Amino acid sequence: MFDKVLVANRGEIAVRVMAACEELGIETVAVYSDADRDNGHVEYADEAYNVGPAPASDSYLDQETIVETATEAGADAIHPGYGFLAENAEFARRIEETDELTWVGPPSDAMEQLGEKTRARQAMQAADVPVVPGTTEPVDSPEEVREIGEEFGYPVAIKAEGGGGGRGMQIVHDPADVDDALETAKREGKAYFDNDSVYVEKYLAAPKHIEVQILADEHGNVRHLGERDCSLQRRHQKVIEEAPSPVLDEGLREQIGDAARRGVREAGYTNAGTVEFLVEDGEFYFMEVNTRIQVEHTATEEVTGIDIVRWQLRVAAGEELDFSQDQVDIEGHAIEYRINAENPADDFAPTPGTLETYDPPGSIGIRLDHAVNQGDEIGGDYDSMIAKLIVAGEDRNHCIERSKRALEHFEVEGVHTIIPFHRLMLTDEAFVEGSHTTKYLDEELDEAKIADAVERWGTEPLADGSESSETHELTIEVDGKRHDVVLEDLPQSAATETDETDDTSEDDPADSAASSSGSDDEAATMTDGAITAEMQGTILSVDVAVGDEVTEGDIICVLEAMKMENDVAAPAGGTVASVEVESGDAVDMGDSLIVLE
Ligand code: ADP
Repeated sequence: MFDKVLVANRGEIAVRVMAACEELGIETVAVYSDADRDNGHVEYADEAYNVGPAPASDSYLDQETIVETATEAGADAIHPGYGFLAENAEFARRIEETDELTWVGPPSDAMEQLGEKTRARQAMQAADVPVVPGTTEPVDSPEEVREIGEEFGYPVAIKAEGGGGGRGMQIVHDPADVDDALETAKREGKAYFDNDSVYVEKYLAAPKHIEVQILADEHGNVRHLGERDCSLQRRHQKVIEEAPSPVLDEGLREQIGDAARRGVREAGYTNAGTVEFLVEDGEFYFMEVNTRIQVEHTATEEVTGIDIVRWQLRVAAGEELDFSQDQVDIEGHAIEYRINAENPADDFAPTPGTLETYDPPGSIGIRLDHAVNQGDEIGGDYDSMIAKLIVAGEDRNHCIERSKRALEHFEVEGVHTIIPFHRLMLTDEAFVEGSHTTKYLDEELDEAKIADAVERWGTEPLADGSESSETHELTIEVDGKRHDVVLEDLPQSAATETDETDDTSEDDPADSAASSSGSDDEAATMTDGAITAEMQGTILSVDVAVGDEVTEGDIICVLEAMKMENDVAAPAGGTVASVEVESGDAVDMGDSLIVLE
């Protein structure tokens, strides 16, 4: 077994991996960026090294610095967690090629084969696994896309080879839209995954997202640990995940599990991985393989009792899986809730801030994976996850009842969270029945219900660090009985109570330059004609060129920050004098985007 493992990640997953290391008697090394000096994973580790400034491209994605740090620390293995470098085959290969370091993950060859979607589709077909109908070769021309549309019917999805989480995926309903969609998918693939190759498949109308957890060792053993149902999604991003799926019957469950095992065996895969499928009308179709530990692995751990991260380390160290497929028992039900700092009533816009109160629930059936404490800052540099709450019960109904208790007692103040949304789901007919598909949240759920849930169960972030002077909580006893009383001050003016918009725009119009898809966050400000980024992020597209005339409110570029696409609008009109960014660029707050004259 290893002596010392460097965890090339941050936050809850870094702590999760370190916990497994600790139980195996392995020392741990954390890496952190300037923005994460006080992060929980840094405190948890036996030793920690600063690997650079806040932008991930300069720290958590800096392959060379991370490998050097591992060597300097005397580590003998690197665990990548999820995100960042976890699915980067080049990084894995680099570690495989060193003498002193082991990669805790699948072989780089298998990552390459399964990470590229068309190659993964070929491997699955070779293993007799049904794939979503479409191409198994990259497509280049709009004509090829239209041929698929004609053959299988519209809509079709144009997907980036390296894509995931709905990024780099364009859905086309009409042959006339193919040209634009193809271009956008290529551009997004390039910006997010540095790969502009795309392919086409049929876009299923209302599928379930079912994924199979795999563990494979270097001795030829491949096991599956049952499935997770991740059908509750917002814009193709998972929000609630559970195990097992409420809709699979035993026959289909066995077929999907076997198919997943055959597929990864075909690719010579080892370590942990997830094979994702779409299921519709009793048929299942391979979608993609995630060649890493996933956020939602916890739900599977809760129903199988198998510590997947521990096995990742043991398998990487050459050990053999010590259980047969028949010995994998699924018991009870588990649901994972991502506790994100987002405001569900504002199109789930991230709300960075300070955890003024952080008091998670406890007691039977509750697991919490997190790396934060009360008083911590939820910054805007990375994703908006505060914690993962995993609730286990005897069966799905029990799990739902227990989840109601857990979420009711999860107290967070200082930032918005999606807890009110989760509580809404626990009373939502489609979710409770388990009949929801991947389209349910985007196409069917009445948005007014989300706003009501936030009104009912949400907490307001405190404005700009000012203490909540509007209310005072008192405990009093009347006739020996205890009562909690909240006293409210009268608002100083009606405006402070009701004005939820923003506090900057009134006297300086240039300050409120941004519109964003559904959120009121500012994406840009303007000084002396230069429009600068208001937040760190990635440029997805630039919509103007030098010489263009723009008028106030025109979209000049699209900036992605904290998983939100923000349309950056011109705060004033003018002629574009220079364009300082191109799609794919990482920008910091204050960086100039475009100059108007
Ligand atoms: P992931 O997020 O798992 O890395 P993708 O980006 O391939 O993977 O898919 C994300 C989500 O997009 C899926 O869970 C599903 O909801 C939707 N999706 C992807 N491909 C299709 C398809 N061909 N038909 C219908 N929905 C799809």
